[in-house]
Amino acid sequence: MVAERAATDAGRVRQRNLAAVLRLVHESRGVTRADLTRALGLNRSTIGDLVGVLVEHGWVDERDDGQRSGVGRPSPLVITRDQWLVAAINPELDVIDIALVSLGGEIVARRRTAVDRPGVAEVVAIVARVVRELSAAHPEAQVLGAGVAVPGLVRRDDGYVRLAPRLGWSDEPLAAPLAFALDMPVAAANDAHLGSRAELTFGAGQGAASVLYLNGGPSGIGGGLVIDGHPVDGSAGYAGEIGHVSVDPRGALCACGAHGCLEALVRRDALSAAVDLSHPDDDELDAALQSAVALEGSEGPVGAILSEQLGWLAIALRSAVNLLNPERIVLGGHLAALWRAVGEHDRHTVLAEALPVTARDVRIEVAALGAQRLLIGAAELAWDALIADPTEVPLRPIAP
Ligand SMILES: [Zn+2]
Repeated sequence: MVAERAATDAGRVRQRNLAAVLRLVHESRGVTRADLTRALGLNRSTIGDLVGVLVEHGWVDERDDGQRSGVGRPSPLVITRDQWLVAAINPELDVIDIALVSLGGEIVARRRTAVDRPGVAEVVAIVARVVRELSAAHPEAQVLGAGVAVPGLVRRDDGYVRLAPRLGWSDEPLAAPLAFALDMPVAAANDAHLGSRAELTFGAGQGAASVLYLNGGPSGIGGGLVIDGHPVDGSAGYAGEIGHVSVDPRGALCACGAHGCLEALVRRDALSAAVDLSHPDDDELDAALQSAVALEGSEGPVGAILSEQLGWLAIALRSAVNLLNPERIVLGGHLAALWRAVGEHDRHTVLAEALPVTARDVRIEVAALGAQRLLIGAAELAWDALIADPTEVPLRPIAP
C-alpha cells in the first residue's frame, strides 16, 4: 500500500516537473538546459531526463548551439517543436478569426471568415470546416485542442456563454457543441481575459507581476487583471469588466442597461467616425488617428474627440489604480490607438489625480501583440490542459 502510494506520488511529482519544464520552454520560446536547472531548482540529470521525455513525446527539440554557461560545455538549447498545435477561435460581430497556434504562441495558419452577427450554430459549423481545412494543410502536425475568446461573459467551468450582448447571445452553450464538432477538448473564456494573458506571457506585460489590461474591441471594452502573478477571475470568472465601470452617472445608456459606463463613452465607432472610417481594423484606426492629429494638430476636431475620450478613460484608470495598485497598465485595440494619438501632455494628465504613492510607478503601455493577441490568448487556454500532462500525447514517431 505504502509503496503503491509512494509510486503514485513520484508519478505526480514527475508530471508536475514535466509540465513546469514544458511551460518554461513554451513561455520563453526556447531556453538552455542550464537556465531550466536554475529556474526550477532541479539538478542537471533530472532536467536532462525530463527534457528527454519531452523530446520523445514530440514537444521539444534540443540544439547544441546554446549559450556557454560559465567555463564548461555550451548548455544545449531546448526549443519548441511544431508537431502539436491548438486551434484558436475569436467570433466577433462581423468576422470569425481562426488560427492554428504552435507551442511558444506562434500563429502557424490563420483565416478570417466574414459573417453577420452569427449564431452559435453558424460559428460551430464554420469553425469545424475551417479547422479541418487548416489542419489538412499541415499534415506534419496534429491539432490537440481548441480555445475560444468570446466577447462576453463566459462561465469558467464549462465554457458556457452567459451573455455576449453585441453578438446577441445569452445562455448559449459554446464549448460543448464545438468540442463535439471538432472531436477535441475545447475551452472558452472572455476575450479580454485572454488578451491580457497573451500580453502578460508574450507581450507588453512580460516581466510584470501585477498588470491591468484593457481591451477595446468592436464589442466594447473588456479587462483582464493579474495581481502578484495570479490571473484574477472572480468567483465565477466574470471579474475584470472595466468597460462597465461608471465614469459618468448621467452619461449615455450602455448595452448592459446602465448609464455612463466607460464603454458607452469611450467608443471605437466615435473614433472611427472622427477619421471617416467604418469598421477599420486596429492598425488602420491607429494610422488614421495619428495622421489626422499630425495634419490638424491636437487642437483640431479629431484632437478634441481624443481629449474627451481620454478624459473618460482617465476616470476609470484612476479608480482602478487606486483600487488595485498595478505596476503596469496595457491598452489594446482602439484604446491603444487613442493612447498613441494623444500628445505627451495629455498622457501625463491621465493618472494626475490618482493617489500619488500608487500612481508614481505605474507604466502605461500599448499592447505589443497587435491584432494577434486574442488568438494567442485563446491558444493559451487550450495549452493549459495539454501542458499540465505532457505524456498524454502519443510518442513521437522515430525519425528515419
Ligand atoms: Zn455597461
